[in-house]
Amino acid sequence: MASKRQIRVGGVLIGGGAPVAVQTMTKTETADLHATMDQISRVADAGADIVRVAVPRDRDVEALKEIVRDSPIPVIADIHFNYTLALKALDAGAHCVRLNPGNIGGPDKVAQVTARATELGTPLRVGVNSGSLPAHLRQLEYDNPVEALVSAAVETVALMERLDFRNFKVSMKSTSVPNTIAANRLLAERIPYPLHLGVTEAGTKWSGSLKSAVGLGTLLADGIGDTIRISLSTFHAEEEVKVAWEILKALKLRERGPVLIACPTCGRLQFDMDSVVAEVERRLQAYEDPIEVSVLGCAVNGIGEARHADFGITGAKDMGMIYSRGEPLKKVPTDRLVDELFAEIDRYYEAGKTVVRDEARAAEARQWLSENEDSTALTPERIAAMEKAAARLHEDASPVAGRRFTRA
Ligand code: SF4
Repeated sequence: MASKRQIRVGGVLIGGGAPVAVQTMTKTETADLHATMDQISRVADAGADIVRVAVPRDRDVEALKEIVRDSPIPVIADIHFNYTLALKALDAGAHCVRLNPGNIGGPDKVAQVTARATELGTPLRVGVNSGSLPAHLRQLEYDNPVEALVSAAVETVALMERLDFRNFKVSMKSTSVPNTIAANRLLAERIPYPLHLGVTEAGTKWSGSLKSAVGLGTLLADGIGDTIRISLSTFHAEEEVKVAWEILKALKLRERGPVLIACPTCGRLQFDMDSVVAEVERRLQAYEDPIEVSVLGCAVNGIGEARHADFGITGAKDMGMIYSRGEPLKKVPTDRLVDELFAEIDRYYEAGKTVVRDEARAAEARQWLSENEDSTALTPERIAAMEKAAARLHEDASPVAGRRFTRA
């Protein structure tokens, strides 16, 4: 249920079926050009499609002109309370201006902003926040916070339409995950405009990432949401971008860089998998292709569970194995696992994305696998073989099963 309408922020399409855009917000004082541009460059490298900067003072507007000129990604100016700053941000060339029509000084002031945005062809992001709903919705907020949030958003949309302005996206922020989910589900049914999703003040990197993954992930899995921002209490905005990407990658909504799969480990583990996974994750950052790499702590279940992985390793005490798409490639000493894994990955790219298999080494690895996997474990391959054998047995035993009947 992507939004029906689409807008364009700089070169990035939002809504109307466009890929879900990743946003973040700089944590620097915007007027500190050096620090702000440095952070924008880091979030762009991490994969942000769009960046938002706070514009609370005139000196931030001054900086905004240079930021818009030099930023590698579109820039949204974040304005509260002061409509003249919104006008100045539009004139400074911001690719979009975010404002909350409820705190900007009344419809007349909003009208001045939409008029200027129309002249310049610049979109707006309009939104409501659970912490600052209009006075007439306070009782409803107490009785039904979700309906209050949605009503405030619908009223904002109605105001925009009365002003004959439709080049906007909408956001509805709440600190509550259930309310974020319920409110956005309702709003997506009521308006055709693109939705920006976020759980506001989500928390630390750990808890905030989880809250955002649950809240935004639920909505995105339903097809709701056209752009997302993960709000984390960290000065490193690129961390927000990385979390956003993990959510989109987990839902297979977008691809960016390799996907690492790792088993959770258990009492069967015989090597230092923590460091191996960390090292594999670190080295994979140098690759842009969305290859899937798997790390299994042991070969108890064979490698069937990772049969979709382009490359993977499974370890044991002294020896481990490199495999590709469910087939062994070679066995190597455990302390060489990571280096040999990346040697195979690089060979794959050098050969034009073809897995290069040395049959003698693969046979050696197969032998190692058969000695190390648990012969009693019910791997998917073994279950399939058992089912096949059972079906054959049934056919042999039954006088009718498996026979073809034809009409006389
Ligand atoms: S792959 Fe091995 S070590 Fe990892 S969780 Fe499964 S049984 Fe445990």
